[in-house]
Amino acid sequence: MKKAKFPIYLDSHATTAVDPEVFRTMAPYFTEVFGNAASRNHEFGWTAEAAVEKGRGQIARLIGASDKEIIFTSGATESNNLAIMGAAEMLRSRGNHIITSTVEHKAVLDTCHYLETKGFEITFLPVDKTGRVDPDSVRKAIKPQTILVSLMMANNEVGTINPIAEIGKICKEYGVLFHTDGAQAIGKIPVDVEKMGIDLLSISAHKMYGPKGVGALYVRRKNPRVRLAPQIHGGGHERGMRSGTLNVPGIVGFGKAAEVAAATMETETKRVSALRDRLWAGLQAELDEIYLNGHPTERLYNNLNVSFAFVEGESLMMGMKELAVSSGSACTSASLEPSYVLRAIGVGEDLAHTSIRFGLGRFTTEEEIDYAIQKVCETVKKLRDLSPLYEMAKEGVDLKSIQWAAH
Ligand SMILES: *Cc1c(COP(=O)(O)O)cnc(C)c1O
Repeated sequence: MKKAKFPIYLDSHATTAVDPEVFRTMAPYFTEVFGNAASRNHEFGWTAEAAVEKGRGQIARLIGASDKEIIFTSGATESNNLAIMGAAEMLRSRGNHIITSTVEHKAVLDTCHYLETKGFEITFLPVDKTGRVDPDSVRKAIKPQTILVSLMMANNEVGTINPIAEIGKICKEYGVLFHTDGAQAIGKIPVDVEKMGIDLLSISAHKMYGPKGVGALYVRRKNPRVRLAPQIHGGGHERGMRSGTLNVPGIVGFGKAAEVAAATMETETKRVSALRDRLWAGLQAELDEIYLNGHPTERLYNNLNVSFAFVEGESLMMGMKELAVSSGSACTSASLEPSYVLRAIGVGEDLAHTSIRFGLGRFTTEEEIDYAIQKVCETVKKLRDLSPLYEMAKEGVDLKSIQWAAH
């Protein structure tokens, strides 16, 4: 085996490294080309503005939008806030009902909970066992007061991809705005805001090999022309929707990252999904009692989320520090609550605590995957050897039938 560099990064849903090509493109914009893109009176400003507009075009092309529909933000958290709060405030006189789901990113869930305190009514749609929203449930939830539907394109824990085009069509039918959080999906799956009926789309650069702290919100300009109440005031940048001096190097990198993503999407889909499948096959070949979380096919090509029954996810991670992965309990940060996403797809609390999320990426190699398979299998077996429950299960004892002493 070729020597892998440790620790092996398998947490690409949390963030990705800036692609070296992206970094090279950004570099001059920190030093030589440092102008403020809003400076209208001199060369420094014009050059910066041209760079920003180039980036805007690169991002627009990746999602089938026109340049003017891209609003730069600090990331997908801000984009989600602007989309939801901006639409809610703008359309308050038309209605106060918003539809979302139980498995959204916290940037959507917390924003919706905040709006509840401001008199909005939020419907949190359930998802099926694979993590998908049923488009029919969206149709049934829409009522005259509904102003916005916000449903993620792909889930950040289990990688499940929602039927976005179908949902978009239903929203159009009822004249309800459709926002989708594309942080995990953009750059990985082909997206066309026209064909998919998307009105608002959140993107984050650092999830697609661009820099942290920059993102975008796609805001539809016709059929319908979407208007949002700004959430940050001052200066009137970005068509008045998001004031603040633009992060020029960040935007340059974001744009380049979008261009690279478009150019490599097809080959990367094949290469990384093959590695992901190799990982899953390798684990299954050596371990019993492991379960795939999420959708078997409608999932991001770089995602594998697995429950290893009878093994604590946290102990598993501790036992394999050479692998940088996430556990099904760690996502809600400090607390050891099982992930709300796993709970929502019906994974029992016991099993949720045994879950690990593998996030492969552009720089993942076959050697790394082979090492990961070996390391995970070895650690799971070691931990299970210490587990009386696993032993009893192997002996055919139905654990559910056991009368535990003392409660
Ligand atoms: C990472 C992520 C976000 C937040 O993006 P930031 O740019 O880090 O603010 C929002 N939604 C999803 C689905 C994500 O994966």
